Amino acid sequence: MVKHSGISKYTSQYIPDALWDIFNITPEELKGLSVLESSVYLTRECNLKCQYCKIIKTELPKELTIEEWIEAMDILEDIGIKFVNIAGGEPTVLDGLPRIIKHLSTNTKMDFSIVSNSLFGAKKAEDLVDAGLKAYIASVDVLGGGDMKVHDLRKSSAGLKMLVKLKEMGVPYLCANIVISATNIDNVMDVVKFLSDEGIWVNICPIIWGKGDKWDEIDIEDERYRLGPEHTDKLKAIASELIEIKRGGALILPTEPYLEGLPSHGVLLDWRCCTEKIETPPPRLTIDADGSMMSCINMRGDVAEKYKIFDMRNKDTYNKFLRDWWAEAKSCDGCYWSTMAMASERQDMLTQLKNKPGWLES
Ligand code: SF4
Ligand code: SF4
Repeated sequence: MVKHSGISKYTSQYIPDALWDIFNITPEELKGLSVLESSVYLTRECNLKCQYCKIIKTELPKELTIEEWIEAMDILEDIGIKFVNIAGGEPTVLDGLPRIIKHLSTNTKMDFSIVSNSLFGAKKAEDLVDAGLKAYIASVDVLGGGDMKVHDLRKSSAGLKMLVKLKEMGVPYLCANIVISATNIDNVMDVVKFLSDEGIWVNICPIIWGKGDKWDEIDIEDERYRLGPEHTDKLKAIASELIEIKRGGALILPTEPYLEGLPSHGVLLDWRCCTEKIETPPPRLTIDADGSMMSCINMRGDVAEKYKIFDMRNKDTYNKFLRDWWAEAKSCDGCYWSTMAMASERQDMLTQLKNKPGWLES
């Protein structure tokens, strides 16, 4: 099961237990691991064209087949991944998605979630639940916004309906992704409270723009969505209210340090997933729809031209990829994705754990 819910309590004194609780793994298993999480772009195709979406702007000559994805999932498990987030594009446009879910739920021990725009029918929802879907993330970022494009509104409304439907169908872990932008900043807290009251977890991050893969090709209209210094005070108020209600039991997924950083990093997009001085592995392995190993969810990067997920079967190649990843990522200007920041925190826990004197000596 996905157990992000308790992450905020993991201050340093809890570190030895945190990773084991979240991913249900033994200390012996942890010792050999370098990366715990993965995000996969199952496809870059989508049945929507959201205004701020950068993913669908990159078309790949050939995407992996369902069989190849199943093989890729086995490789991820073999190299120690404990959690896979299946994203896109829109993963549900692939008819074979239930087969991948079935494989993950019956043949692997990895936890997994799907992030979707929720524009699929009752039959597909049933197929996914029957296949073993336990964690579902919907985008409802612009609920109630007054200045939205039709595609954005369709996604938010479908997301809410699908969360309610999947709740009725017994899917235990339901989450809504909210992207804060200049157009929805005034109603974000209403949306968060509504969802939390409904028993739905809320993940939140600022709109990311202006850097990385194809970001230089952003449409002029995107200007309306961007967060700038003029939004800092509103973001401060949102961050402190989020922290307050999270402490009071609201179902807010991001950690307190992440929320505290929202007013600054959310505007400047200057959070870094690694440092220039110490070589570290990526917070998450990100796999593109053609099987390439990406720099991160923002960028394919040079590593994508060199490595495919299938190359990671070879341990030396995997280690070489990790080194090349750092060599490239350390010069990145930054971003502020909650998923990347939280994965990074978990990697830090793992590193601290491994560096603890006397920890699992052998
Ligand atoms: S639903 Fe997601 S993948 Fe599709 S266009 Fe919108 S943001 Fe992009
Ligand atoms: S800081 Fe890291 S995760 Fe963020 S855009 Fe740069 S390489 Fe990607």
